[in-house]
Amino acid sequence: MADWREALAASKPGDYGIIGDPIARSLSLRLQQPALDGWWESKSGDPEKTPRYILFHVHAADLGAFMREVKGRKLAGFNVTVPHKTAVLPHLDRLDSFAKVVGAVNTVKLEGSGLAGYNTDGPGFSTTMKSDLKLSPTSALVLGAGGTGQVIVQMLLALEVPKIYWWNRTLDRVRPLVERLADAERVALVGDAKALAARCGEADLVVNATSAGLNAGDGLPAPGLVFRKGQAAFDVVYHRDTDFLKEARKAGARVCGGLPMLLHQGAEAFRIWTGVPAPVELMKAALLKAVKEKGIEPVWP
Ligand code: NAP
Repeated sequence: MADWREALAASKPGDYGIIGDPIARSLSLRLQQPALDGWWESKSGDPEKTPRYILFHVHAADLGAFMREVKGRKLAGFNVTVPHKTAVLPHLDRLDSFAKVVGAVNTVKLEGSGLAGYNTDGPGFSTTMKSDLKLSPTSALVLGAGGTGQVIVQMLLALEVPKIYWWNRTLDRVRPLVERLADAERVALVGDAKALAARCGEADLVVNATSAGLNAGDGLPAPGLVFRKGQAAFDVVYHRDTDFLKEARKAGARVCGGLPMLLHQGAEAFRIWTGVPAPVELMKAALLKAVKEKGIEPVWP
């Protein structure tokens, strides 16, 4: 892959892209390029100027340089992935309200001469709950308090889920997060294995928002998870049928992997950039084709 400076120099105003490290295996290109092609064609845009979606491999130390140069190139927008979702904030001119609440941005749009930051992971999760799991939970257990766990807890709060239980492998990481929440009485910290087993059995929805499952053989994110029939289990990991999902399925829970969330966050980014609804079915077909080529079996309700 070309160095980001070369890739940026070869871009044209109106192009899109994604920044991250690593980035070569990102599925976002496969999602966004067919959607951009169709949109451009529907506008009868000059085929020579069809927007390209470009992968920019940007190390943490180069983020400031990239953000300075990208304005001059007039990219119309770009996605932001690991490790830049929080670090990008000081380089932006405006933040949407949800991005402000979660302190993380995964979508940037050129608005006038400034860069605006959005977070579409939250809406991606919310659409997955509504459209794919067809669920409106009264209680949820969230495992993991990294960037994604925090986004999901904030979205469950925004969705007015009455009771949210939050567990993290490192308790000292999640405790101050719970204390800082504006709506802390709806969120309860889960501190030990006994409470975790009880909350897991009780919740309508159990979310794995940890990275456990990213690699084959990772095992469960937490010991002693006790699932039950009729509840839903959602795993943010989309790389495989994880042990978390297998265990939940064995107990009779409805299961969903992370691909629908990836699709819906991408669809929301497309809507923000173009101002028109995303071609979700086209994007879903492109995503499923891409994961099949990688040998990934989608877990999609
Ligand atoms: P992060 O900020 O680095 O946080 C990682 C979290 O996982 C922390 O809570 C960490 O706990 C926990 N963890 C890591 N290894 C673990 C293990 N073996 N057992 C139990 N807990 C473990 O990462 P992130 O940005 O939140 O991303 C988490 C996952 O979400 C990644 O797999 C990412 O690919 C996925 N993701 C999916 C989507 C989607 O659209 N489907 C979107 C965004 C992210 P400690 O605090 O104890 O270290």
